[in-house]
Parts: sequence; C-alpha cells; structure tokens
Amino acid sequence: MPEIVTTRDSLYIDGKWVPATTDQTIEVENPATEQSIGTVPAGGRDDIDQAVQAARRAFPRWAATSRDERAALLHRLHDEVKSRSDEFAVTISTEMGAPMRIATRVQTGVPLQILADSAALAGSIERREAIGNSLVVKEPVGVVGAITPWNYPLQQVVAKLGPALAAGCTVVLKPSELTPLTAYLLIDACDAAGIPPGVVNLVPGTGPEAGEALAHHTGVDMLSFTGSTRVGRLVGAIAGGRVAKVSLELGGKSANVILEDADLAAAVKVGVANAFLNAGQTCTAWTRMLVHRSRYDEAVELAAAAAEKQVPGDPRDESTRLGPMVSAAQRARVEGYVHGAVRDGARLIIGGKDVDVPSPGYYVAPTVFADVSPSSRLAREEVFGPVLAMLPFSGDDEAVALANDSDYGLAGAVWSADEERALSVAARLETGAVDINGAAFNPAAPFGGYKQSGIGRELGRYGIEEFLHTKAIQR
Ligand code: NAD
Repeated sequence: MPEIVTTRDSLYIDGKWVPATTDQTIEVENPATEQSIGTVPAGGRDDIDQAVQAARRAFPRWAATSRDERAALLHRLHDEVKSRSDEFAVTISTEMGAPMRIATRVQTGVPLQILADSAALAGSIERREAIGNSLVVKEPVGVVGAITPWNYPLQQVVAKLGPALAAGCTVVLKPSELTPLTAYLLIDACDAAGIPPGVVNLVPGTGPEAGEALAHHTGVDMLSFTGSTRVGRLVGAIAGGRVAKVSLELGGKSANVILEDADLAAAVKVGVANAFLNAGQTCTAWTRMLVHRSRYDEAVELAAAAAEKQVPGDPRDESTRLGPMVSAAQRARVEGYVHGAVRDGARLIIGGKDVDVPSPGYYVAPTVFADVSPSSRLAREEVFGPVLAMLPFSGDDEAVALANDSDYGLAGAVWSADEERALSVAARLETGAVDINGAAFNPAAPFGGYKQSGIGRELGRYGIEEFLHTKAIQR
C-alpha cells in the first residue's frame, strides 16, 4: 500500500499554502484502530474571510476563460486525481474506515467518472437560447462555499468542485473535520493540474466555526451543502437569510419496494448490499425494505442470509465488505437505534448488540429487523449504519403509501417482472431517484432530493446548471 500523508499544517488560499490564523488543530482518527493518525489546522473566521476574498478576486478571470480552457483544466485535474488513485483509496479507507475494495472502486472510481463528465460537459453545455425577442444567457453564479460530509469524502467534494469549475465559479471548500486528509490530497491534485490561484481554496475546520463563517459570508454567492438535514436546515437558513443561492444534499430513508412478481433472490440480495454499502453510511441507502406480504417470510430469510455474509473486518483486507462506523459517536448513535427498535417491538432477525464484532474499531454487526412499525423511529429516521428495516405490504397502493410516508425523498428502488408496472410505481414515489430491478448508478444523471432530502441537483448537466444564473436580454 502507498504511504499517505496524515499530517498537514497549512491551508490552501490563493494558490499558496499558508498558516491558519488560529492555533487550533483537528485530530484525524483511524476508526478501524481507534488511533489518532495525524492533525490538520482548524481554520477560523479570518481564514474563511481570506479564502473568500481570494475566490472573489479570482472569479472574473476564471469566469471569462473559454469553455475549452476550463474543460482542458478539468481533464488535467482528472488525470492528476487518477495518478493518485491508490493514495486516495488508502487515505479514504484510513480516515473513514471504508473497506479497500469500496474505497477503490466506489469512493475513488465514481469521483473520477464525475470529473471526466464535468470536463466533457464544460465544453459542450449550451449557454445561449433565443426566446422571442430575448437572448437568454447562462452565467456563473460566482463564489461557491462548499461544505461537505465524511461518508464519501472525495465524491461529495468532486460533485461540487467539478460542476462548479465547469460552470466558471470559484470555490472555498470546508470539508468534514472527520475526513480532511482526502480534501488535502484533492487540493494537491488541483495545484498540480495548474488550476489558477484563488479558483479553489481549502479551509478545514469545525462546522460551528469555519462552516458557519462560510454560510454567513456575504462574499459567498452560493452555498452548496451536503450533510445531515439538521445542519442543512441551519446553514440553509443562514445563507438563505442573506438571499444567497442555496443547494442542499441531505439525508434519506429510502424504500426498496419489492412487488410480488419480482425476482426475489436478486431483489433482496442487491437490496441488502445497497443498504449495507459503506457500512450503511450512504445517504441513498435503501434502508427500508418493503416486501409484498405473499413473499415476505421468504424475503426475511433471504435478507438474514445475505446480511450474514457481510462480516465486519479490517478495511485493509481486500475481502472485507463491512468496515467500522466512522467514529465512536456514530457507533453509539447506531447502537441507540438498535436498542430503540428492540424496545419498539421490531423483530430482530440477525445482528444486534450481542453479536461479536472486531475490536478495536467502531464496528456494528450487520443487523436486520422485520415487522418494523411504520411509525417507529427505525422506520422514519436516518440511522447511517448497517441496519435494515423490513416491512410488509399488501398491494401496490399500500407499497407506494408506505414508501412515501417519510420526511425524506432521496432515492429508492422498485422490483417487478413487469417493467411497465415498476415504472408506474416509480412514477408515484416522492423521491429524487428510483432504480428499477437493480439498474446501475448513473453518475451523469441528476442527483438530489425531494422533501427534507434537499434542494437542487448535483452531477451531470443538471449539476452544472445549479452553478449558473439565467439572464434575459431583450432586443
Ligand atoms: P453533518 O451535517 O454533521 O456535517 C456535514 C458538514 O457540515 C461537515 O463539513 C460539518 O463540519 C459541517 N457542519 C456541521 N455543523 C455545522 C454548522 N453549525 N454550520 C456549518 N457547517 C456545519 O453531516 P455528516 O455527519 O458529515 O454526514 C452525514 C450526513 O450527510 C447524513 O445525513 C447523510 O445522509 C448526508 N449526506 C447526504 C448526501 C446527499 O447527497 N444527499 C450525500 C452524503 C451524505
């Protein structure tokens, strides 16, 4: 495995590595060993201010570059990230616990595809349209403040950075305090790619200090946030309060709807794998499995068998599928939901608190509950751990009602032998994405939530358009 850098001592502002104005640092921990592995500076309000000013100065020139120039730089950035793929995978695995196979194929592979798509689209998105006597033009929004979570530490940053740069915006990034090292590696790649000074700036720090300072800063034209609904509501109110553009990618409680004519073995196997991907720390995870009553008992057995194969283990081992939770706090949170579900009367099928898990490391056993009440916390709240809730239904209408009985609306799935029927159920789901019969994730398709899962769309053409203003010129 390649050596990785685990301690950094500066911020990246205006194309230079500079010291933070605070003397505080953030400890980075390996959740598989519970050991501190390094530190980064905790930037403060003044650092955010410096970074925003640098981004403002860089904006006019960057916005005026040709689409082809931006496309060429994004291609270079893609190549620089690609040349560091192994370091990215090891860094991600070390700071947030993803098993190496996930850290490589998903956590690093998908961002590379997003960067390639952003580069390709940067040169081709149409920015002028005639409507009657109007010329409608699209212009970059300006300075983007990006606040990102720890669960996919490269992908969540690249999903903002690629499209924002393609649009012609400049960026100040405040990554999660749990996973700053991945962000540093990405900035190394930006620097090596020759992204001009001030176009991308990095200020790691805590949410309440650096994050809120970014949301409040009047020099930030758009706040692009990915994280929990709780914090999204807060930063959205701050940035919205000064009428900045806001995009929010928030939590989920997605439903996997398995109709009675589905290929049950595939639906349950793929459904369990989806729910437990990244140890369940995935915003789109299908954490509610809704199964037609006539096949429910069979599905419960299949789910238990599939979950049993998700043996928690050392993330560095290539065969490991389930790593630890990102932190002690996250493990305690997940365990709280497991205890609560038992108290609420759900039927524990596999997992739970009495199963042995590796130690040290913040591991949680893969857990499946059946007969989960639709009104219970397990059915309604985002757990963000390897915990699946199974619920029966009696017909398509009840399946749709149960799936939609959620504050969230991020993703979901429908399984049926009849694609037309699956499509008609998919059309009735109040959610930003639906996969039919296990169809593949498409990183060029729009991604985002209905209801409390967010506002706006990321990825592909729609992702770039989020970073554009629309102007009508009459003549
Ligand atoms: P979080 O909301 O705790 O933190 C996200 C970011 O917000 C971090 O950078 C954090 O430092 C910052 N933050 C925290 N408090 C802040 C404050 N007061 N002001 C400004 N910034 C603040 O989320 P998390 O635990 O890092 O990530 C998990 C959550 O992210 C889950 O809810 C998950 O569903 C969601 N998520 C959503 C998507 C999506 O695209 N919809 C993708 C990944 C994760």
